[in-house]
Amino acid sequence: MYQAKAYSVSSATSAFAPTTISRREPTDTDVQIEILFCGICHSDLHQARNEWKEFMPTVYPCVPGHEIVGRVTKVGSSVAKFKVGDLAAVGCLVDTDRTCPECLAGLEQFCPNPTLTYNFPDKHTGGVTYGGYSDSVVVDERFVLRVPSNLDLAATAPLLCAGITTYSPMRHWGVTKGKKVGIVGLGGLGHMGVKFAHAFGAHTVVFTTSPNKKDDALRLGADEVVLSKDANDMAKHASSFDFILDAVSADHDLNAYIQLLRRDGTLTLVGAPEKPLPIAAFGLLFGRKSVSGSPIGGLPETQEMLDFCGDHNITSDVEVIPIQKVNEAYERLLKSDVKYRFSIDMASLKSE
Ligand code: NAP
Ligand code: ZN
Repeated sequence: MYQAKAYSVSSATSAFAPTTISRREPTDTDVQIEILFCGICHSDLHQARNEWKEFMPTVYPCVPGHEIVGRVTKVGSSVAKFKVGDLAAVGCLVDTDRTCPECLAGLEQFCPNPTLTYNFPDKHTGGVTYGGYSDSVVVDERFVLRVPSNLDLAATAPLLCAGITTYSPMRHWGVTKGKKVGIVGLGGLGHMGVKFAHAFGAHTVVFTTSPNKKDDALRLGADEVVLSKDANDMAKHASSFDFILDAVSADHDLNAYIQLLRRDGTLTLVGAPEKPLPIAAFGLLFGRKSVSGSPIGGLPETQEMLDFCGDHNITSDVEVIPIQKVNEAYERLLKSDVKYRFSIDMASLKSE
């Protein structure tokens, strides 16, 4: 074991503060990574504040962070994919059972026995896993991704969660040219959803509660922007969408979006608000509509997404912050005031 620097919260109501955590020394199959940038996902906030207590109660102290990009500093003796000095990335998964049908199919996001990057039992240390708000991490090479060399690193980190979580469902539900696609909520996930929907050739419509994000939505690749609080604007799009991706982090009305789906259309939730969201049956019956959900993505598809981003020069729009501003960033996240992902420059942790 060795000591790593990190930022943690010690309860659902406490602020982040500097700490040290124990990490394992790399085993034969491990890669040790110096973390250069880590994105701030709204899931980090939900988890830090124990908002998902029914599904994933938080164990404190909690070190979040699952949008990790860095440089390899050590490799185990049987590591083949990475060498010291390589760029490397880690997303939401650091292990799975590797033997179930889902893992064998490369759909590790559905493995019944995953180890998430933070707040999950850690087989090696006996404690819980600690995420990327830290100066280093040790991960089995199977769960480490390659980073395209042409992309800005601070802006690449958010691809590891916001990127794959929007890329995967749009691939699954066939978002392509000729499809009308809605993205609800222009935050970290939503803005990546816009970039991918546009890159896949779909007619892309952004739904936002923030009038001041309209110009940005068009710049990011939207063909149209709808202010979701404007009932007239919403009504113009009734029964017209093939697919709507809902990336909202808080309570909101799903039925308003279900009525915008055409026959056989799908509303897919990637947002994970704290409380259940009611759905009116009649809205689904007429039109044979579906509501579904999608979590992150498997390792092969995450690598595919990163390579796609390398080929198409797609990254996240980031506001780079020092780790000392993480508490302020969380407050701004709650006000939908992020353009469009905070990326922590982990060099700032050296001074702690
Ligand atoms: P974020 O950056 O905070 O963006 C959320 C956006 O939702 C806001 O920018 C805002 O967009 C909209 N919004 C916020 N409060 C709202 C309200 N009360 N009513 C309507 N719209 C509201 O969050 P994120 O990091 O993108 O994450 C979004 C959600 O996805 C979170 O719940 C997160 O936990 C979840 N998530 C799920 C997965 C998965 O695997 N499925 C992965 C990562 C994250 P506008 O200003 O445009 O309205
Ligand atoms: Zn996330």
